[in-house]
Amino acid sequence: MRCEVVAIGTELLLGMTLDTNSSWIGEQLALNGIDSYFQVKVGDNFARMETCLRTALERSDAVICCGGLGPTQDDITRDVIAHVMGAGIERDETIASEIKRRFEARGQTMPLNNLRQAEVPVGAHIIAQMPGTAPGLICPIGDKVIYAVPGVPSEMRAMIVGTILPDLRTRAGSHSVIRSRVLRIWGMSESRLAEMLQPHIETLDQTRRATLAFQASGIEGIKVRITAKAEDEPAAIAELDIQDRQIRPVLGDAIFGIDEETMEIAVLNLLRDKGLMLAAAETLTGGLLSSRMTVVDPEMKIFIGGDVLPPGQLPADLLEMPIDLRTIALAARTRKRYGADVGITALEPLAADNQAEGSVVMGISAANFESTTTLTGQPDRKRRREFSVINLLNHLRQTLNAS
Ligand code: AMP
Ligand code: MG
Repeated sequence: MRCEVVAIGTELLLGMTLDTNSSWIGEQLALNGIDSYFQVKVGDNFARMETCLRTALERSDAVICCGGLGPTQDDITRDVIAHVMGAGIERDETIASEIKRRFEARGQTMPLNNLRQAEVPVGAHIIAQMPGTAPGLICPIGDKVIYAVPGVPSEMRAMIVGTILPDLRTRAGSHSVIRSRVLRIWGMSESRLAEMLQPHIETLDQTRRATLAFQASGIEGIKVRITAKAEDEPAAIAELDIQDRQIRPVLGDAIFGIDEETMEIAVLNLLRDKGLMLAAAETLTGGLLSSRMTVVDPEMKIFIGGDVLPPGQLPADLLEMPIDLRTIALAARTRKRYGADVGITALEPLAADNQAEGSVVMGISAANFESTTTLTGQPDRKRRREFSVINLLNHLRQTLNAS
């Protein structure tokens, strides 16, 4: 089973919208064992869209189109598909009244334009999931198929997961179940990671029990995705557990979370388990750390406060200290002022500190321990701020784990 992805929209070609849909769909197809050799982007133009669809149908068994299902004149995906199917278009009254109902539920009257979204090529089926106002379509063409989903990422994902992947898997005659788990890593390069897991990967190449894939994700760390295929869900999960147990001792404390668990969630959970409250002083990071922590702790029960301070205007006695001591002292004062158990901060050296340019000293202060670590090699200030936040949180996580 080969499936091609066609992303539709002139904004994608002009670089105004990043085509994240194709990447996400590509990942899902791979996870489901469906081959995908081409991803195409095309503008909102009838003739060029038609060429793309016809080409895709020649070399693939299935085509997923995303975008161009909106209510405006430039949204012509359904018209082009009907043309390629050699079919007419008719209004689906059930869909029409559903769209109308959704507008009325929000206290709005439906613009007449939206009725375009109820138009369906004759012979096409409607996809059951409909989070927005545009229905998705399954359009059979001989023994092949074109799926059409909206460009809005959340609507697209609901339809792909709920209908299209199961349909593709049935068409491919696949009855197995594929599940994956992501181990999230910080503080190790991708090449080092691959090197450490090399023996494991070689074994998996032979046994074919599961696959491992690496994905560097900037300040989200590196993701190691374990994927297992089995006859049913419990068997797939059991295989993931086996692989997880084998990999975990190799990577040890570099693993901070699984699946959607971010660094801040990992830190928050650890503080909660230990009954500790956290406060931060931010100069370089200008509130970035507080912002990330308050997303996961909106009531600020564990992350109880953060200061944003001008770097050059710290109290005079702090400025006189060497940078390591200054960092610890600032973290300690912040901890005490907020009545927290742990205080943290990240400071850039001042000219008088004689440190390498672009380095950052991160410090932790608690009643019974203190620790500093230095970040180097981030010349770009934006990245330095972001990396300081995640490195500081990771240093806190590892220190708490060891304490
Ligand atoms: P459309 O279905 O063409 O009306 O697109 C609706 C919205 O979805 C657009 O305004 C974009 O913000 C977004 N969108 C469309 N195509 C993509 C894509 N390939 N990747 C990410 N976002 C998209
Ligand atoms: Mg569009």
